[in-house]
Amino acid sequence: MSQPDRNATYLLGHDIGGTKLAVTVADRDGKILHKIRRPTEAERGPRAVVASLADMSREAMAHATLSPAELAGVGVSCGGPLDTETGVVYAPPNLPGWDEVPLKAWLESALSLPVYVENDANASALAEWSFGAGRGCRHMVYMTMSTGIGGGIILDGRLFRGPNDTAGEVGHMTIVENGPACGCGKRGCLEALCSGPSIARRAREKARARPGSRMVDLAGGDPACITAETVMDAARQDDPAAREIVDETARYMAVGLGNIVNILNPEVIVIGTILVKAQDLLLEPIRAYLRRETWPRVYGTVRVVPAGLGDAVGDLAAIAVIRQAVQPEGSI
Ligand SMILES: [Zn+2]
Repeated sequence: MSQPDRNATYLLGHDIGGTKLAVTVADRDGKILHKIRRPTEAERGPRAVVASLADMSREAMAHATLSPAELAGVGVSCGGPLDTETGVVYAPPNLPGWDEVPLKAWLESALSLPVYVENDANASALAEWSFGAGRGCRHMVYMTMSTGIGGGIILDGRLFRGPNDTAGEVGHMTIVENGPACGCGKRGCLEALCSGPSIARRAREKARARPGSRMVDLAGGDPACITAETVMDAARQDDPAAREIVDETARYMAVGLGNIVNILNPEVIVIGTILVKAQDLLLEPIRAYLRRETWPRVYGTVRVVPAGLGDAVGDLAAIAVIRQAVQPEGSI
């Protein structure tokens, strides 16, 4: 494929999720000109999904009255594992039946535009850095805190991927030796303690050991129905057991963040999803515990902030991938 047109004003983004596809046309400032969504229907197989993406791209360009010549290229945000050099996707858990799919090659041949593929966590990190809460900094760490804990690292104004495109897996730092089992096969990972399902699991254990918690009332009387949201709601009503779970979550998060801060000395750590929804409960305790985990000069430099893009992060993640690919080296 030819080199991207680095002077082109407009960017095309493909967000490939397990349930929906989104194709977005935007400018370099992240202003969206047109967006199209369709169900993924991954069971149709990767070739059919790529054909849908190509159709949606043509439709989006037509709506935005743009020709391919006005586009710098295509950024793709997709579940990993994948290889960003070859653009091959290896069996993402949310896309059953996709194994060694040459996504970049297929899309380039369908659209005659240069295509850049990035895993969704790294793409979201690029989006928060380009358009969201990390805008303007040179060194940033991004974390999602939802059903899993993923992340991405921006160092010196570039995404840091490592040789296997797996750098930034902040959710699998060991926080508690021999702690709860994690989906990755290890024990005591940050994800096994502070993801949404992990917070709910700790809360259920506590509610069973300490009957009478408001968490159980809010879960309709059944401790098995407690979710992370129930915990946060009960904590806002001053339920002591829920307060303890929130405090424990902040402590575990601070241990993880402390490791990141002491190693990488970032300016900003941007945290999405649960931290955004429960910042009233979590942000100050995390910052307070983080002070104990870091050296004073480093603590004085880093800002821990909630993600800024909300639900727009998916669309802008794909746009940020192509933006970074065509941006001159070292510019922010
Ligand atoms: Zn793990």
